[in-house]
Amino acid sequence: MRRTSENLLASYVDALRPIIYINHSDFVEVDRILRSIAGEARVAEFNNTLGMVDFSDKHPLRECGLESFLRLVREDGFERRIFILLKDVHNSMNDDRIIALLKRIAEDNMYREDYYATVFIVSSKTVIPTELENLITVFDIPLPTFDEIEAIIKSFTNDLEIVVSPDAVSDIARSFIGLSEFQVRQILNIAYQDGGYIDAGDKRLILKEKEQFIKKSGMVELVNFKDNIDDIGGLENLKEWLKQKAKIFMDIDRAIRFGVDVPKGIMIIGMPGCGKSLASKAAASLFDVPLVRLDVGRLFGKYVGESEENMRRALALSEAVSPCVLWIDEIEKAFAGIGGGGGASDVTTRLFGQFLTWMQEKENTVFVMATANDISRIPAEFLRKGRFDELFFVDLPNGEERRRILEIHLKKRRKWNREIDSISIIKETEGFNGADIEAVVKDAVEAAFIGGREKLTTEDLLAAIKNTKSISVTLKEKISAIRETLGKIDIKPASKAAEEN
Ligand code: ATP
Repeated sequence: MRRTSENLLASYVDALRPIIYINHSDFVEVDRILRSIAGEARVAEFNNTLGMVDFSDKHPLRECGLESFLRLVREDGFERRIFILLKDVHNSMNDDRIIALLKRIAEDNMYREDYYATVFIVSSKTVIPTELENLITVFDIPLPTFDEIEAIIKSFTNDLEIVVSPDAVSDIARSFIGLSEFQVRQILNIAYQDGGYIDAGDKRLILKEKEQFIKKSGMVELVNFKDNIDDIGGLENLKEWLKQKAKIFMDIDRAIRFGVDVPKGIMIIGMPGCGKSLASKAAASLFDVPLVRLDVGRLFGKYVGESEENMRRALALSEAVSPCVLWIDEIEKAFAGIGGGGGASDVTTRLFGQFLTWMQEKENTVFVMATANDISRIPAEFLRKGRFDELFFVDLPNGEERRRILEIHLKKRRKWNREIDSISIIKETEGFNGADIEAVVKDAVEAAFIGGREKLTTEDLLAAIKNTKSISVTLKEKISAIRETLGKIDIKPASKAAEEN
């Protein structure tokens, strides 16, 4: 299983990479890999809480701090080959004396013929001091692939002598994608103890466990929502498109077996307050999957490589909870400043590249919904085919759409009645967005209540409209700028043209 991680790690050791930073929280898995590549080397292990411990049975050998440990084992590299294994020491990575000692060991390893020591730092947090940047190689243990997960499930069920149909195995395996072998085995154990068997019904349990991992990470957020596709007024093209893709998502295993491409995601660009965020929620509800929100701004860290590591973890987490909708709101803000000068923009450019590669290569069931207002700040690479399945343009709602939005919000407040003259409302709300119409309904309902009227009247609504400054007034220039830049790219309107309705 996963020969590749062991081979790659062994090749780093052979190439005299002096410090290897393994970003992983599953120490059992890391120990297993190190054991398999150690050969004749002695493994000296330091644990942040226990001090020096025996690598083979984890017995504490000596209570000491990291500095004394490094001084103690450093010399051993002259006698025989040594692996210096440091666990959870990320907090010591800004201590000058530790940095100096690690540097010394690393340089001896590279330049002295009679010295052979490789340092492995294992932690779920990547902290790389600038002084060690050139000496550290970051190593990611790849997560098990779909086939490998199937093999894990089969070996688990064989050991327990439980019979599971091949279809159920692949069904369950797909929901495990994004988790480490350790986590897969842990959840299989829970599922087995729960019912004494493993079947496709365990997918719910797997998802619940995955949600726990997400919540604990703080990198991405699981969004609770009530909205569904019928809460969106208009945007018929977009809704139709999503409904088609839902047929694939709801039956993803069969679709993949049939040869259908897994949908990657869409980018929705356009006017503020017109239902872009609403569409992300509606998609998750339609696909019947969790909605995971990624705030790219939160990924930026202060250490070298930290932001990239955060991005990697955030994407891995979204894969862990897949199938899911990954919602990236206001993506243009996150990636603003790409290509400009300065250190901060270098990091942004790297993060952007990392995200694009992930988008391009992804074969998982994470459906990306990226939303943006200002297309002029979106790098052109983003808009190229192959990244997203489709780009949609959300304009201010047309007359029929405004009528639908009005009806939706009135019905939500149980104030819809046939006497409301929607024709005059449509006329008076030209240039309003969905959020404006919602605000009008709110104000009108409040006025009716204060006025002691049971029924909402057209007059209540018209009065509220008069008192509302629509987006076309408040953001006039922004709107014409969005229109202008949108005219230059190949993008699908989210709405059906008024006459088609
Ligand atoms: P922004 O670009 O400012 O984030 P957005 O396009 O994401 O805006 P939403 O957050 O989806 O806008 O909309 C804001 C609110 O306006 C929604 O919660 C909803 O109540 C209402 N709304 C907007 N568009 C529609 C619509 N097409 N149908 C029904 N309600 C809408």
